[in-house]
Amino acid sequence: MSAIEPVMTIGGAAVDSTRRIDVVNPATEQVLGSAPDCSPAQLDDAVAAARGAADAWAARPIDERKRHLCALSDAILAAADDLSRLLTSEQGKTLADARGEIEGAARAIRFWTTLDLPTLVTEDTPERRVETVRVPLGVVAAISPWNFPIVLAIMKVAPAMLAGNSVILKPSPFTPLTTLRVGEIARDILPAGVLNVISGGDQLGPWLTAHPGIDKVSFTGSTETGRRVMESAAPTLKRLTLELGGNDPVIVLPDVDVEQVAPKLFWAAFRNSGQICIAAKRIYVHAAIYDRMLSVFARMAEDVRVGDGTEQGVQLGPLNNAGQFRRVRALIDQSVAAGLRIVPQHAPAAGPGFFIRPAIVDNPPEDAPIVRQEQFGPIVPLMRFDDIDDAIDRANATEYGLGASVWGADEASALAVARRLQSGMVWVNESPTLPPSAPFAGHKQSGVGAENGMEGLLSFTAPRTFVVRHSVST
Ligand code: NAD
Repeated sequence: MSAIEPVMTIGGAAVDSTRRIDVVNPATEQVLGSAPDCSPAQLDDAVAAARGAADAWAARPIDERKRHLCALSDAILAAADDLSRLLTSEQGKTLADARGEIEGAARAIRFWTTLDLPTLVTEDTPERRVETVRVPLGVVAAISPWNFPIVLAIMKVAPAMLAGNSVILKPSPFTPLTTLRVGEIARDILPAGVLNVISGGDQLGPWLTAHPGIDKVSFTGSTETGRRVMESAAPTLKRLTLELGGNDPVIVLPDVDVEQVAPKLFWAAFRNSGQICIAAKRIYVHAAIYDRMLSVFARMAEDVRVGDGTEQGVQLGPLNNAGQFRRVRALIDQSVAAGLRIVPQHAPAAGPGFFIRPAIVDNPPEDAPIVRQEQFGPIVPLMRFDDIDDAIDRANATEYGLGASVWGADEASALAVARRLQSGMVWVNESPTLPPSAPFAGHKQSGVGAENGMEGLLSFTAPRTFVVRHSVST
């Protein structure tokens, strides 16, 4: 395969850079292509292009902006075959999952076009009218991670543009290629400067968040980086939305049908090789069903097909990058060194590729790193509980508050437990999903603000209130 070398989109034009960064296929560890390494001057160009486009874009009627978004959705769908293959080759996920992500992103764009910016009238008398409208913020920087590069970018870009902002999108250096391609597709559809897509190494994110020409940063990534983004945005008081890490607890009540629920929980933990912010990351199972649950998990972990995501029948791909591969391996090694039991016991995969087969840590103590840290990989702790109050306390004993789930045959009892969990999303007898119409907001150190739904849309606007006295003589 010839090297894949997409370029940036700045002010509606194709822009290359004098330096490029290599992108590695995680299934082969071979360089797959490269992306431009945006220079500070090119970043200035992108900000100037976005600023230059913002007012005219905001001045268009919202229905016109919606027509542009629908055209973008259609064009992404039309390119779904190519985009999915490219996504698999740089991210590692299976082709079916990559296609699901691309089609999901196109559907998400369509969803945003069903919303309108509200006008709030708080006073309407013969003397006076008080009315609040929503105006765009200006230039939005959208920063995305490597686990779901396209769908997470679209969760920012589409509502930001619908609200009338222009955008500078920066993907992760591990997965820039598909995002750059989406920028190329958008070039023919959106007015110049409305969507700029730039790529670069580790320095580009900090340059972007510190840039005085940017009004809002919408960031998805780790909690650690989120703190840095907040610091960097402080001097110019940029608006912020931070979607950060999670260590989602799951509580399984004793009345569940184990054979039915276990496979759902298995996939809640291991889909995308565990590299999902809202994956099941700590699973608390009632003692009465613990052994049966563990045995179904172990059987599935034994049987699941792990390999190159482009191969037919593969269910789980590799981890995305060498750093994440080492982190997850270290957590496994640490667990083994601490005398914890891991099932099944897999021999380390022979290279190349960042492959780790799924495994379960059998009832580790609460203070084990595999319980305390976000693993973001295919290894999950299953923990026994006898007393529901104790399970809830343990589930809540974390700095994170992204998602949580409760599984039980009696919905009312499960819901009663769910109401006591401290996170922004709580699923009851449901695998982790994010309905685009509902706000998704990390509690505690899992985030600031919300994405999705009306709240997500409004986060790309500021309120502007008009107080109109009908007659100066009264
Ligand atoms: P990361 O924080 O390392 O990187 C995320 C993005 O930020 C990348 O584009 C990166 O280049 C950029 N970046 C790095 N340093 C920066 C800085 N100082 N300033 C500005 N930008 C910077 O995260 P990752 O490893 O790509 O993704 C995995 C993490 O993301 C996990 O913790 C996961 O839980 C989290 N995540 C959260 C959500 C959510 O919606 N809450 C969704 C997916 C992933």
